Amino acid sequence: MSELLCPWNAPVFLIFSDNVPHLFYYSHGVAIISALLLGFFVYLKEPKVLLNKILLGLATLFSVWVFLDLAIWATNNPSFVMFWWSAIILVEVLVFAFSIYFLHVFVEGHDVSLRKKQLIFLLLCPIIALLPTQFNISGIELATCLAVESFVPLYYTYSFEVLIALFIVHFSFAKYRKAVGARKKREIALITIGIILFLLAFSYGNIIGSITTDWELAQYGLFGMPVFIGFLAYLIVRYQLFNIRLLGAQALVFTLASLVGTQFFFIQNPTNKILNGIAFVFSLVFGYFLIRGVKREVRQREYIEKLARELKAANEHLTELDQLKSEFVSLASHQIRGPLTAIKGYASMVVQRDYGVIPDRLKEVLQTIFDSSNALSVVVQDFLDVSRIEQGKMNFEFTNIDLGKLVEDVMIELRPNIEKKHLRLVLSVEPKVMVYADKGKLKQVIENLIDNALKYTPKGYIEVRLARVEHMARLTIKDTGIGIRPQTLPNLFQKFSRQEDASKANILGTGLGLYVAKELLRAQCGHIWAESEGEGQGSTFTVEVPLKM
Ligand code: ADP
Repeated sequence: MSELLCPWNAPVFLIFSDNVPHLFYYSHGVAIISALLLGFFVYLKEPKVLLNKILLGLATLFSVWVFLDLAIWATNNPSFVMFWWSAIILVEVLVFAFSIYFLHVFVEGHDVSLRKKQLIFLLLCPIIALLPTQFNISGIELATCLAVESFVPLYYTYSFEVLIALFIVHFSFAKYRKAVGARKKREIALITIGIILFLLAFSYGNIIGSITTDWELAQYGLFGMPVFIGFLAYLIVRYQLFNIRLLGAQALVFTLASLVGTQFFFIQNPTNKILNGIAFVFSLVFGYFLIRGVKREVRQREYIEKLARELKAANEHLTELDQLKSEFVSLASHQIRGPLTAIKGYASMVVQRDYGVIPDRLKEVLQTIFDSSNALSVVVQDFLDVSRIEQGKMNFEFTNIDLGKLVEDVMIELRPNIEKKHLRLVLSVEPKVMVYADKGKLKQVIENLIDNALKYTPKGYIEVRLARVEHMARLTIKDTGIGIRPQTLPNLFQKFSRQEDASKANILGTGLGLYVAKELLRAQCGHIWAESEGEGQGSTFTVEVPLKM
């Protein structure tokens, strides 16, 4: 029995036929190659990741769809059309099912529940069952080899596709609203837009084809491809596989070479064949250098990325160590403070003769013990303050303070020390300079500055002035001491900063006092700075705190 065939020649290799417009080989070929290339690329990078598997599935289904489309155009055998047309209908709904599967796993980060999978399968069952019946395709037009579609492709599959589209919109909208952080929201929005555009472009041609029966229009479905690729590219970048550029270059060269290469099948003229051969060789050589260049760049970039990651890890480790150090210093200082107070207390009591008369020589020794332990408590206090500042645990109690009174009180306490060093004291305090600050902390700063002036001034005078300057209270402590070198000045308020020969004048100094003063003032909206004409020229320290409003 001779078979009825459509009026053109049988195709070669299923797809090469006169009935297919030449342009289709390009549009379909590029679509298949790019989908498979990207699908495999992502999959091979990490084959175990579910999302990558689904992506490969989606790319494969899409490629099968494109191939079947080409085969249907090419064949002149109605039985083949019948079979492939049915297959393409099934593949099409599977593309939809895989798209939503992909979206779900992407957004949720885990596999879909079995119940949801069963639901999708149930919806697909009628299509599978009716595929070989007349409810799917009722006949073939012999003149064109086009199928006459009936219930399944005309109504059921479209309803299924619309349902999936609605679900995508509903799902993404709900997830977008619930998502925390701009990054996640952007990710959901992008993936949804990508999937919807892909599916729209994919079905556009089919819908038009089914409704108008102009199947050439169906080819426009392939214009969804760039969107698909763009959206895959986004995923790849999200996975930090920077080889996207390498892949892009490879795909470009491959496509270019294939396009030029396929010309050999169509060109008859020998001159053109030679010219095409030259173009082919050129595209290969150019492609080789392009890929090599991109590869090198990618390697360098990956290397920089690696270094940046290592640096970040090292930095985190250092921060952790720093934290540990602060905690240790804080603990140790606390432990030292107790015994130190006892030593100071008893030394002072013995010197004061609370335990009876003691020889003068012993009194001198005990006085030294008292002075040294006093200096040591200052050092311990500095350490404690620094660790509190670094851990953000310094507490402040703000009250209204008469700063003039506070300065005078400190001066009364320290006057004996000034006199002992035969220094002159010049005191000028404006009355009623009220500030809103922590009294204890402010006193600590003033004591520290006057103590420094004392330590670093062998002869001359110390001048303490308090005045209002605009909305600030300004306290100036000027001395005629060893001065500060210009190169030391900028770093003076940093931790452990001491002038080179500072230990000659004051052995026990830590270089922490000024740092603590700066931090204490900063927390009270004040500031501090130092001025000096240079070595041997004396120094001036100025403190400003806001006046009470
Ligand atoms: P310490 O006095 O314990 O070394 P500080 O932080 O109080 O620590 O001071 C840091 C450094 O600033 C001192 O070591 C010293 O070199 C310099 N300095 C501070 N005050 C004066 C001053 N009045 N005259 C000269 N140098 C000073």
